[in-house]
Amino acid sequence: MSDLPLHPDTIAVHAGRSDFGALGVHAAPIDLSSTNPLPDILHGGDSYESMANGGHPLPDGGNVYARLWNPTVARFEEALAELEHAEASVAFASGMAATTAAVLAHTTGAGKSHIVAVRPLYGGTDHLLASGLLGAEVTFCDEDAVAASIRPETGLVVLETPANPTLELADIAAVVAQAGDVPVMVDNTFATPLLQNPLDLGAAMSLHSATKYIGGHGDVIAGVIACSEETAAALRRVRAITGALLHPLGAYLLHRGLPTLPVRMQTQQAAARAIALRLKDNPAVLEVRYPEFDDTRGLIGRQMRGGGAMVAIRLAGGYAAAEAVTGAVRLFTHAVSLGGVDSLIQHPAALTHRPVAPEARPGADIVRLSIGLENVDDLIADLEQALVKAPAVATV
Ligand code: PLP
Repeated sequence: MSDLPLHPDTIAVHAGRSDFGALGVHAAPIDLSSTNPLPDILHGGDSYESMANGGHPLPDGGNVYARLWNPTVARFEEALAELEHAEASVAFASGMAATTAAVLAHTTGAGKSHIVAVRPLYGGTDHLLASGLLGAEVTFCDEDAVAASIRPETGLVVLETPANPTLELADIAAVVAQAGDVPVMVDNTFATPLLQNPLDLGAAMSLHSATKYIGGHGDVIAGVIACSEETAAALRRVRAITGALLHPLGAYLLHRGLPTLPVRMQTQQAAARAIALRLKDNPAVLEVRYPEFDDTRGLIGRQMRGGGAMVAIRLAGGYAAAEAVTGAVRLFTHAVSLGGVDSLIQHPAALTHRPVAPEARPGADIVRLSIGLENVDDLIADLEQALVKAPAVATV
């Protein structure tokens, strides 16, 4: 690309296209080959060994096998790394596959077997860490207790900000300082690289469920981690061994969606902010959670460029109100997931955060809104007509 410093919206359009000129194409090719012709046994074998250990294909060795390397995936990774101010990124078949790889890469070997995880977290992440499935021991704690929770065998600190679904913010730089030498992974799904760059604040990894804003159209399940090249090699090694590569069609769609990510985020964020402000005055709403509202530490501006496009509301009528509102909306779709062009509503305690331990599970009076690209007045009208149908007070 250009030698000049570029703005993120320019990077979003042009990144990951460095080989287009040589290929003579203007749109990314989709390479669906599961296997590739080998130049000869020696070079093919050396290339295989390089990639199985997390390296790149050797210049004369070929890509060998798509579980190890795929050019369409690599182009998306190059683009995402650039947006996250990272040396590299590694794409996975889902956000959970990405988290799994990060845990395995940081807790197997070198005497590391323990993780510190700051709650609240996405329910699936909480479930994975609490399950013990990956062998690591996990200490869940508050943001302020990270330093006290670190042990000699701690290999990773996991943090999510803004947190799903309550939209609490954590101070990334402060957690990094508490973590000392232990690498911190920030789940940056809600903010996207357009609003927050955790690596600039000292985090070792920025993880995305690319299923959400990065894909943006509700048609891809994917995950990606931006990090140093050294960490990327460790993650690619786990990916190659466990088989968690993103499919090239998904990578193509993610790469195709990046150029519109800045305008999508700006428009969706502006609508979310307007909706959050409006709902503050609604009698059916006890509390509106939007990152900018309780930002006593000034993290919006210092850490995050805006509050994002997610809103959570606590309903005066509790669970019964949540049932009424999710059933009464017309434009919002009652569905899990988030970050797409169309607006979604869901009840975290019953769905995305169902597997979380009761003491850490979001309240039954909370519904989460993912604000899309529809006209904001239409979205407000839809929510207001649905909120009228909610019981005014909780019965349980
Ligand atoms: N992180 C966050 C904040 C999420 O909301 C999700 C999914 O909802 C994930 C991670 C997991 O991603 P995926 O569903 O792509 O595996």
